[in-house]
Amino acid sequence: MTVVNCPTCEKKVTWSPESQFRPFCSKRCKLIDLGEWASESNTIEGASLTDSLTFDEFDLPINDDLFRPDED
Ligand SMILES: [Zn+2]
Repeated sequence: MTVVNCPTCEKKVTWSPESQFRPFCSKRCKLIDLGEWASESNTIEGASLTDSLTFDEFDLPINDDLFRPDED
């Protein structure tokens, strides 16, 4: 089984279908690497960076809706 290190936080990530954000360990790390927090997402309604990161990352099951752009 292949294991890689998350480019953002260097946490070990198993290279498998379950690791949907590989080579990143999480959606958060993927977005951080892409620079989205610094450019756009971090400005929504003055929400703090921390709050923005926690809403869908840690406790909820994987949901395909999370991968789609916001359409509202
Ligand atoms: Zn990571």
